[in-house]
Amino acid sequence: MSKVNHNRKHWPRWAWSLGLLAAGAGGARAFLLRGCWHTKMGWPIREGDHSYQVCLGCGIKRLFDDEKFRGYGPHGYDVKELIARERAMRMRQRRKTA
Ligand SMILES: [Zn+2]
Repeated sequence: MSKVNHNRKHWPRWAWSLGLLAAGAGGARAFLLRGCWHTKMGWPIREGDHSYQVCLGCGIKRLFDDEKFRGYGPHGYDVKELIARERAMRMRQRRKTA
């Protein structure tokens, strides 16, 4: 008596790699959703001890370095999350150099 298991719950391999690809390209995903490459950023806005710029095309935000006068770090729609990520990164760097 042969019993073939047709109940395969696992996704095919190509579906996983497709998902990873989509998750990895955050900027490309934003482009697909909004059709925007964030080339037109507004003037920097002060938020506590950080500054950030807002994309005039889609409203995404990015932290801004006053001294170097340029944007840095990842894009995101939540400024508080961007600042938290930036703080965590700086702490990690400080620990490395100390
Ligand atoms: Zn944009």
